[in-house]
Amino acid sequence: MCAASVSNTLGIEVSLVQNSPCCPHGPTLLFERFNGKRKKQRYYACSACRDRKDCSFYQLADEKVSEAKLTSREELNRSQQPWTSHEHFFQRMQDTKDLSPSERKFCQSCSLLLRPQEVQTHSKHKIKADLTDAILGQPSHLLLPLEDNKTNAQYLFSKTATEFLISTIKRLGYDRVLCVGSPRLHEMIQSEASSDLSSLLLDIDHRYGQFYPPSLFCRYNMFNDHFLDGAKSRTICEDFLHRNHGNGIVMVTDPPFGGRVEILAEVIQRMMGRWTMGLQDLGSTAKLPLIWIFPYFLEQRILDSFPSFTMLDYKVDYDNHPLFQSNKKKARKKGSPVRVFTNLQPSEIHLPLDEGYRFCKACKRYVAEENLHCTQCNSCTSKDGSTYKHCKDCQRCVKPGYVHCTVCQRCELPDHQCNRQSMGCHICGSLTHKRKECTDQSRTAKRYGLFFLRSRPRFSAISRNKRYHLLD
Ligand code: SAH
Ligand code: ZN
Ligand code: ZN
Ligand code: ZN
Ligand code: ZN
Repeated sequence: MCAASVSNTLGIEVSLVQNSPCCPHGPTLLFERFNGKRKKQRYYACSACRDRKDCSFYQLADEKVSEAKLTSREELNRSQQPWTSHEHFFQRMQDTKDLSPSERKFCQSCSLLLRPQEVQTHSKHKIKADLTDAILGQPSHLLLPLEDNKTNAQYLFSKTATEFLISTIKRLGYDRVLCVGSPRLHEMIQSEASSDLSSLLLDIDHRYGQFYPPSLFCRYNMFNDHFLDGAKSRTICEDFLHRNHGNGIVMVTDPPFGGRVEILAEVIQRMMGRWTMGLQDLGSTAKLPLIWIFPYFLEQRILDSFPSFTMLDYKVDYDNHPLFQSNKKKARKKGSPVRVFTNLQPSEIHLPLDEGYRFCKACKRYVAEENLHCTQCNSCTSKDGSTYKHCKDCQRCVKPGYVHCTVCQRCELPDHQCNRQSMGCHICGSLTHKRKECTDQSRTAKRYGLFFLRSRPRFSAISRNKRYHLLD
């Protein structure tokens, strides 16, 4: 029954099961963990919110829930939805467009396009005025990125990264993009008047609903494949997938990095299955073209789920990435840790030569400047943005700074403790160390705040804007 399941060092396993109870974010995930007395605890909790205070749903797996409680839960779930109807919320955009730019107002404190009669009540808030059509077409610039109270901001692509994605998609001949958790990509496609591309945004952040009608934005949870506005919204996505018998579409997703890869992979498989249903030849083995943007140090986790995928060297830059806020010098040298994973032909994805990328004939793909081809590995082996060097004892390339240890019989940092027992690492998949000791994690993940024990994204759109529930 468990379609996808994953565990971490705390021994918590998570899976996407059928018929799990629903929280306001749709079907919950089943968590299993051993408590102090080594007794197994199984419970359902929210798939989308990392923090209990954003979604407090909790139900023991064997709990019998009374009818009365089920009814009140349903009511609660309904009352937690951000709008009475998407169409109604989107009316704000239409009303705003009817005003002259100088009369148009957006409240950043409340993430809301304001009607003239509402302006007064927001007078102490942060207001953006003089909203031209162009500005209204860039909601990801108007909305403040949702921040997790503990860790990081919503990461928005830099202009360069967005343009790279769009030019790649166009060059490969696609005519439409399913943007899952990539609002800025959607926005740029939508704002290109001359664009031959169309797009549909799937995202859990309801704030986009006032900028886009239901035909351009579905509120969707990518940790349980749930369309939060029900069957009508799901049909919009299906029609988009099935247009032209499924030809010409590519899906681009940039999930929260704290999300559990196996759950995301399972959900992506479901989306792929949805696409397949629209193919002319239902026996076809074709796969939905996918671009999955994720940190390089989670490569193994992605390959476990999608063995045929390739990680490209392209470093995805963000406007508000902590990379450029802390630890600047060290970070800049290696560049962003975020890469592109794809089932497309790597040789066909041309990485920009003017940014130092080059084509490696032997590897048949574009590689980063510092990624030198190793004749012994017969591959361009660098992953993290530094130049790896070959160790003849390990018979593979290792990160700079590592030296071969004859006791451990592998390359280690010079100050490592020899012969430590280990159950393997849940970050990079290596059997040589534990999660806690993962250099990928401690040096990189920690630096980016990617320290997640549960599959929770960095924020909850709902709770942040609770005040305006059903006020649309
Ligand atoms: N780089 C992208 C944004 C990535 S940030 C861009 O510039 O377009 C991650 C995105 O995933 C955010 O838009 C966030 O709202 C969305 N998200 C977070 N949790 C989600 C969930 N459970 N389901 C769907 N989308 C989610
Ligand atoms: Zn929830
Ligand atoms: Zn306000
Ligand atoms: Zn090598
Ligand atoms: Zn070695």
